[in-house]
Amino acid sequence: MATFDGKNFIGGEWRAAASGRRFEQHNPANLSEVTGTFADSDPKDVDAAIVAAEAAFPSWRALSPLARKAYLQRALGEIVARRDEIATTITRENGKALREASSEVDSAIKEMDYQIAEGVRLCGQTVPVEVGGTLAYSTREARGPVAIVTPWNFPFNVPGRKGTPALMAGNTVVFKPASLTPRTGLLFTEILAASGLPPGVINCVTGGGGSVGAALVGDPRIKAISFTGSTPVGKSIGLAAARHLTPTQLELGGKNPAIVLPDADLDVAVAEIAKGAFACSGQWCTSTSRVIVLEEIAAELTKRLLAAVRGIAVRDGAAADCGMGPVCGEKQKADILAYIERGRADGARLLAGGAALTGAAFDRGCFVEPTVFDRVTPNMVIAREEIFGPVLAIITVRSFEEAVTVANDVAYGLSSSIFTNDLKRAFTYMERAEVGLAHVNLMSALKEPQLPFGGVKESGAGLPEAGSAGIEFFTHHKVCYVKYR
Ligand code: NAP
Repeated sequence: MATFDGKNFIGGEWRAAASGRRFEQHNPANLSEVTGTFADSDPKDVDAAIVAAEAAFPSWRALSPLARKAYLQRALGEIVARRDEIATTITRENGKALREASSEVDSAIKEMDYQIAEGVRLCGQTVPVEVGGTLAYSTREARGPVAIVTPWNFPFNVPGRKGTPALMAGNTVVFKPASLTPRTGLLFTEILAASGLPPGVINCVTGGGGSVGAALVGDPRIKAISFTGSTPVGKSIGLAAARHLTPTQLELGGKNPAIVLPDADLDVAVAEIAKGAFACSGQWCTSTSRVIVLEEIAAELTKRLLAAVRGIAVRDGAAADCGMGPVCGEKQKADILAYIERGRADGARLLAGGAALTGAAFDRGCFVEPTVFDRVTPNMVIAREEIFGPVLAIITVRSFEEAVTVANDVAYGLSSSIFTNDLKRAFTYMERAEVGLAHVNLMSALKEPQLPFGGVKESGAGLPEAGSAGIEFFTHHKVCYVKYR
């Protein structure tokens, strides 16, 4: 089979990197399988993409939202038609189980559909004002060429979540996908381009974060930056953007807790926690990574959780019986194993997993066992830092008060859950949780496209994505006062 030859998409054309350099990517289930070669771009390519996006902006923004909708709606139809092909591409690049990749495409379809509908309601305000004979109103204006920088864990859904409101609002886009998943990013771009978008409206440049990403987010011609990724990179983008007062939307890491109270339905808690912790090999920003359990039910919950975890079949994501796929690449695997070692060294008790899987089916890939520690204390590194892998830390506490304190006592504030049937405690936790998303009797990873999605503390800054907030970030308000008498 010929190797996929990925090029940049700039000004309506597929182009090699100006330098001619390329890089390879591999299937994390089998590193000997090359998923494609891609343009290893540099700031020259970024410049060409920004020039194209700037040139396309005036006529794209001048279209009515309904006219813009026609393009996005065509692209959405194509995504629906090519669902299985997209899911297979995601699984080969990212490693997640095909069932999870298909569900990512389904989520992208729902989110894009919602944002297309939001985008035709670019409503301003009309309010009475004090100055006589004057009509005052506000409009929502596109910002200009915007940058979209995305991670590898949801390589199709995140570009859709950002790209759809950006385009619907009349902006043009320069998109930089993660280097571990460029093929999915190019597929997203190809589908948008095939909808007939005018040249320069969508541009995609592949290559390293330090070269392509940094050049893009530091450029004053970029009028807004929507980034999803790690907290350290998010902070560096915030600093670069501040030099030009460029608005940023930063969706970052998490260390999401699940509190389990003694009155909880443990069947529900175990099922939701196991899904929240190990789906997509724990590589969700909203993954459950800490269980905070009251001491009187800790032993029973742990026993049931271990039974659930031992039932997870780790396989190549393409296998029909895959329960959990590989992690996304060698660096990711090494980082996760280093955190597991750190947990052991710090005195946590390893109850399940704790190693890379070995043997014929695993040696060529990046497979890590689903791992559970208990006797974790809140000050341990595995209780505080984002591991971004299939590792769950169980922390035992004595009271509801202590549980809330421990849940909040981390740098992150993305998502959280509480499992209880006590309404008072459930709502008290909803009130006090320092997070962007809080759940009762549901996994921390759940979210719906109708509502905003974003974190607080070191999990995010700027306006959230999705819901009605999605389009808000990609517009600014212009207020007009018209004296007619
Ligand atoms: P990452 O290393 O921060 O990379 C994210 C993106 O930024 C990639 O496209 C990367 O390019 C690029 N990048 C790297 N350095 C850059 C720089 N200096 N300037 C501009 N761009 C740069 O994150 P990741 O490992 O891909 O993704 C995992 C992280 O994403 C986790 O922390 C996870 O929690 C977070 N995440 C958050 C959310 C959310 O909504 N809150 C959702 C999903 C994931 P390269 O790939 O070329 O390095």
